[in-house]
Amino acid sequence: MQAHQPTQTTPVCSLSYIHPEADSPWLTYLAQVDRVLPHLGHLARWGETLKRPKRALIVDVPIEMDDGTVRHFEGYRVQHNLSRGPGKGGVRYHPNVTLEEVMALSAWMTIKNAAVGLPYGGAKGGIRVEPSTLSRKELEKLTRRYTSEIGIIIGPQQDIPAPDVNTNGQIMAWMMDTYSMNVGATATGVVTGKPIPLGGSMGRVKATGRGVFVTGREALRRLKLEIKGLRLAIQGFGNVGGTAAELFAEAGALVVAVQDHTGCVHNAKGLDVARLQQHVASRGGVAGFDGGEAMAAADFWDVPCDVLIPAALEGQLTVERARKTSARLILEGANGPTLPAADDVFASRGILVVPDVICNAGGVTVSYFEWVQDFSSFFWDEDEINARLDKILGNAFVRIWETADRLGISLRTAAFVVACERVLQAREERGLYP
Ligand code: NAD
Repeated sequence: MQAHQPTQTTPVCSLSYIHPEADSPWLTYLAQVDRVLPHLGHLARWGETLKRPKRALIVDVPIEMDDGTVRHFEGYRVQHNLSRGPGKGGVRYHPNVTLEEVMALSAWMTIKNAAVGLPYGGAKGGIRVEPSTLSRKELEKLTRRYTSEIGIIIGPQQDIPAPDVNTNGQIMAWMMDTYSMNVGATATGVVTGKPIPLGGSMGRVKATGRGVFVTGREALRRLKLEIKGLRLAIQGFGNVGGTAAELFAEAGALVVAVQDHTGCVHNAKGLDVARLQQHVASRGGVAGFDGGEAMAAADFWDVPCDVLIPAALEGQLTVERARKTSARLILEGANGPTLPAADDVFASRGILVVPDVICNAGGVTVSYFEWVQDFSSFFWDEDEINARLDKILGNAFVRIWETADRLGISLRTAAFVVACERVLQAREERGLYP
């Protein structure tokens, strides 16, 4: 376990339509694929499939603002791989979204869905926008126009969007309604993460954070560490980080530091998570919370802790931060938070990393439950959802752990091996068209 091939060469991107810079998420993904190919035997001949998105759509999203002016936003939907089923993956609203980032996120969805064994390919979408600067009406127009523009490639059997950074159930409701209006029938299964009255699933909102907790619990069991009294540092206190904090705190862990886009708060005795959630809900971030001391963002990575949960954006765990942290376990709530070179540092320091593709797969797993429930119009209660989630993620974790053990590789590479074998097996069995 945790034997690890260090980063040898910078991966080469053979696509003409992007020009990735060092540390780009797409290059991070390519480096991860390069580490897996030697373990894929005869399936490695299909490896290039993994290095190219099947389809990438760029759309112009013009809207009339409240003041009468017209603004244009850039939107994307990328379907990385559809070998195992329809595309599945969230939609992100963020000013720094790029095609390249969406490509990487869509590829990680391919890996994630296959690693967990969900019958989906991988997709992702995004709009370059700071949504907090828009009124509710403008946000609705933006969402509806974007949905119409990508309507040519999404659908309950084709590609099913879901929430991601800065998108939520309301935005999914607008997407579902817009798509339904365009096709002339109510299509609840076109998006997941919807409000419950529109065919949403119990347990979806907290599913990703719950998955972080479930996979973290499995990892801690194998590290022979008790949850009670464990010190957690969490970057990002939104849907994922906030829920993971809540569940770990309920199980007796101490959340000693939280960083978000507004600041960083620290309390060595453990922050009151429920109070911090209320504060964030009313103030928009952790800054100004009186239940701990404020600290500089850069100092967050030095905080003494046992578990570090990056649950904000990608590329946060650099070599420098990997060298600094006192954590023994990294739970990747965010997508792509660890740079490949930082992975090497974690491995050399004996720090276990539960990779994003399994750690944060709880959301897409309950999205899958939602999609299944929408098709059958028969809904399960929250206990059933949580029990099924626990079982699927627990089984996926065991399969990946055993693969890592058998091949002497990291959990990340093992998750990629399990996933890529499934994707490329499907590729091979389907054959090349025509
Ligand atoms: P969210 O919008 O609810 O929360 C994002 C959090 O990150 C906020 O607390 C925000 O303050 C913080 N943040 C943003 N920029 C930051 C910065 N520069 N420094 C520090 N903190 C910053 O988003 P979320 O749904 O919790 O998603 C978080 C991560 O989890 C993303 O990487 C997302 O792709 C991933 N993820 C989300 C889901 C899901 O179901 N929501 C599923 C899988 C993966």
